[in-house]
Amino acid sequence: MRILVLGGTGEARALAAALVADGMDVISSLAGRVQQPRRPEGSVRIGGFGGVDGLAAFLRDDDITAVVDATHPFAATITRNAAIGAEQVGVPRLVLRRPGWDIQSSWQVVADMPAAARAVRTWSGESVFLTTGRRDLAVFADDDRHRFLVRTVDPPEGPVPPQTTLLLDRGPYTLDGERALLREYGVGLLVTKNSGGSMTAAKLQAARELSVLVVMVQRPPLPEGSEVVATVADALAWIIRSGSGAG
Ligand code: NAP
Repeated sequence: MRILVLGGTGEARALAAALVADGMDVISSLAGRVQQPRRPEGSVRIGGFGGVDGLAAFLRDDDITAVVDATHPFAATITRNAAIGAEQVGVPRLVLRRPGWDIQSSWQVVADMPAAARAVRTWSGESVFLTTGRRDLAVFADDDRHRFLVRTVDPPEGPVPPQTTLLLDRGPYTLDGERALLREYGVGLLVTKNSGGSMTAAKLQAARELSVLVVMVQRPPLPEGSEVVATVADALAWIIRSGSGAG
């Protein structure tokens, strides 16, 4: 068996480590967006495939027997490409996706980033904490009324709001640290994607404690017909089943 793990998440790294420990042949694929990525165990390839056709060709040429899409819940393009490419080549595909955070009644849930920017624009307070990633900031760029604290792993791409304070950091984050940060910047509104998982969840608890409003961006839908598991253990079980022809 030769497994392609589409990565860029902690779950993908954990799966690669488990597959290597089981003596399986695994290639992890990273987009190459982060300057110093945390490297998974086993073989790693970095960079886009070149759309659906490139991904399908990779699956074929590298004799991949199963694909696990363990990308971030908001990486919708690669997830779509994997669904179409794997189907074209007839390679079984699984989505490993951590559950989203339970929606709190106090949150304002929005469908996408433009809706989040609209919600911020109508907010009468001053200080906004954006943890939506460095590539989604353009929708806030013409908001000159609010102060934005923007936390990203690498510097933002594209335009940012005029009153931006940039914080380069990478989780996991602690509750004490998040509480102190919200207080230091006088944050009144937090905007975040529903990424789920524990690495970045402390900000939500801190926001609750400090009565900071939360605008939560919903996940994009998965391609129709996707088989989804939430844990590395379930992904391993699926891989073993798919190898025995029962996948
Ligand atoms: P995306 O918008 O879904 O994908 C854009 C393009 O990037 C894809 O068409 C593909 O290029 C390439 N790509 C994405 N993931 C890849 C992978 N694992 N291996 C090879 N190529 C990949 O992706 P994104 O939202 O920019 O995310 C990029 C990476 O960062 C993903 O691996 C994701 O797991 C990770 N990540 C994303 C977020 C987020 O909020 N979006 C947060 C944390 C980590 P080609 O068309 O040329 O193949």
